Amino acid sequence: MNTGSISITPLYSGSSGNAILVSSNETKILIDAGMSCKKLVENLTMVGTNPFDLNAVLITHDHSDHISALDVFSRKFSIPIYATRQTWRGIHAAERKPHSPAIDNEIIPDEAVEIGGIRVIAFSTPHDAEGSCGYRLETSRFNVAVATDIAYMSPTVYDHLLGCDGVLLEANYDKDMLWNGPYPYYLKQRIAGNGGHLCNDDCAATAASLCKNGTKHFMLGHLSQENNLPQVAERTVLRALLNESLRRDTDFTLAVANRYVPTAPMILE
Ligand SMILES: [Zn+2]
Ligand SMILES: [Zn+2]
Repeated sequence: MNTGSISITPLYSGSSGNAILVSSNETKILIDAGMSCKKLVENLTMVGTNPFDLNAVLITHDHSDHISALDVFSRKFSIPIYATRQTWRGIHAAERKPHSPAIDNEIIPDEAVEIGGIRVIAFSTPHDAEGSCGYRLETSRFNVAVATDIAYMSPTVYDHLLGCDGVLLEANYDKDMLWNGPYPYYLKQRIAGNGGHLCNDDCAATAASLCKNGTKHFMLGHLSQENNLPQVAERTVLRALLNESLRRDTDFTLAVANRYVPTAPMILE
């Protein structure tokens, strides 16, 4: 029976690799396939999911931390894959051996597709990968969204997060840690620039604004290994939410996705 409940389980999250499982009663959708096929299958198994049971894999963009498991995974499991036209170019270019074209599906931002009773909408993200996108997923009762690899909170991204019950949102770097950190200057500029990643402060401001508009559940993801710490990201976002007189566990829940192991799911039911 479709009860409309939905959950988000990050399998691993960060600049080292990303994979997020979104599940409803009868549907399982994977968002991104970073790291290796072996690690992906291992972590899916840890959360009780057989890769053959996935209905679809949605890819956000062609950076290796989002697709490096896909070459082997796509040939081994033949699960339908969705990506924008530009992202497909990158996926095909990165493959050592081609997979069956029968599983390729092109997704167009703002054109909803239905996958196993879940309405999936891709939305364009500002990032230095052509055709990059985030995803909003809707059941009869709940809306959730996954938005990482966003240089800044564009109106398009914000509009798609608005009205979601739960969001997984990027908190990539702490500004002080980035600018005082070990990265070469050009890389610091890339991360903080218009094709880079979302800083903790911008994530926090977005979370506060969304929470005032009804979003209750926040999971922070895609943290930088060098320029952030889970405690720093969490503290920054928590402070912004508390500053709006919002109460933890009453008005909102807040968690940080683990870098290498599955995180306790965000469950909407
Ligand atoms: Zn990226
Ligand atoms: Zn990334």
